[in-house]
Amino acid sequence: MALMPVVDALAAVLSGAQALPEEMVALDLAYRRILARDLAALRTQPPQAMSAMDGYAVRAADAGRAGIRLTVTGEVAAGRPFDQAVGAGEAVRIFTGGVIPEGADAVIIQEDTVVEGASITLTEAAILGRHIRRAGVDFCEGDVLLTAGRCLTDRDLSLAAAMNYPDLPVHRQPKVALLATGDELVMPGQTPGPGQIVYSNGYALRALARAEGAEIVDLGIAADTLQATTEGIRRARDIGADILMTSGGASVGDHDLVKRALDAEGVAIAFWQIAMRPGKPLMHGRLDAMRVIGLPGNPVSSYVCAFLFLVPLIRKLCGRLNIHHTAESALLGRAVTANDQRQDYLRARLTTREDGALIATPVNHQDSSLLGNLAAAQALLIRLPFAPAAEAGSACDILRLPAE
Ligand code: AMP
Ligand code: MG
Repeated sequence: MALMPVVDALAAVLSGAQALPEEMVALDLAYRRILARDLAALRTQPPQAMSAMDGYAVRAADAGRAGIRLTVTGEVAAGRPFDQAVGAGEAVRIFTGGVIPEGADAVIIQEDTVVEGASITLTEAAILGRHIRRAGVDFCEGDVLLTAGRCLTDRDLSLAAAMNYPDLPVHRQPKVALLATGDELVMPGQTPGPGQIVYSNGYALRALARAEGAEIVDLGIAADTLQATTEGIRRARDIGADILMTSGGASVGDHDLVKRALDAEGVAIAFWQIAMRPGKPLMHGRLDAMRVIGLPGNPVSSYVCAFLFLVPLIRKLCGRLNIHHTAESALLGRAVTANDQRQDYLRARLTTREDGALIATPVNHQDSSLLGNLAAAQALLIRLPFAPAAEAGSACDILRLPAE
């Protein structure tokens, strides 16, 4: 049977996926969440002309040269405006953030004055508009400064606060349930018995999904029985998971029960087994609104599949506009052999040559169980189906993995 190409599998995973409904969250919790609506400023910033420096508010026409003496008639500080106008021959003491009093159109910094009692003498000329932040110089009420689909940065939070929003409309985070399978798995820190290995997959998968904005529910490790696997699937459905991610049990062995359990629970399987390496036994289906991604058990396969398929799906549900990984061009650091029908994702190290060229060198051992090589890799080097052998120095495409 012809295996499904990676692009078709990705299209199937994303088909019909839409941004989840919006919810309001406090500013402090909105970091890296995806804005659900365009946001217009609720006020003008600054609301009135304000001083940018400590000094004196003056009329530029009366203060156009050094040596001029002005009478100080009052004081303005941030939050404490002065209710009288500045007249001819007058100045008002002002501090940073103070509202420019009526009549004044320049600020002379205090370093450019000599104070004598209630008057000042200028040592520099005042310049019209100097050191004044005019009303609305930052933004005006109604200005749309943040748009739907934006992943909110740290600076965006302060901007939204200044726009006078105490909380923000963001898309709900997808709830991703992770169900591991395998009789042989023991938790890190335990001593594996004969034939047992340490459970590792979930750590990278959860961190990856969380970094993309998912909320994780860990359903633990199901024994390799139909009943335990089925129970895990039901729990995911009952907690309202948007995505159920299973790991292991996805191959064709007698103990690979995930597909049987999904079938029995009425999951409509869209595909099982795709033309890629690592990760051929990837599975995808739906149970009502819950999307199921059945990941292979091998640690490298499960991670690469999650990186390629789960990440864009999470981004889509989160409401992001750009959901796809972007490939970069590089040069092969060593020769590679001709490829077969499966799209290959070689784990590769990246270096920069003296002339600035990006070099991607596949690690020597590409077995899908090798976590050391996966952790050392900085990128996946894409080899298309039936790509011919290529020499060192040939062009290639890479996807960067999440960095240190
Ligand atoms: P399976 O798809 O269940 O046949 O698993 C394939 C390989 O991956 C087997 O060698 C498993 O022991 C291993 N494996 C499965 N799940 C995990 C896991 N959570 N952590 C580490 N290795 C796993
Ligand atoms: Mg297994």
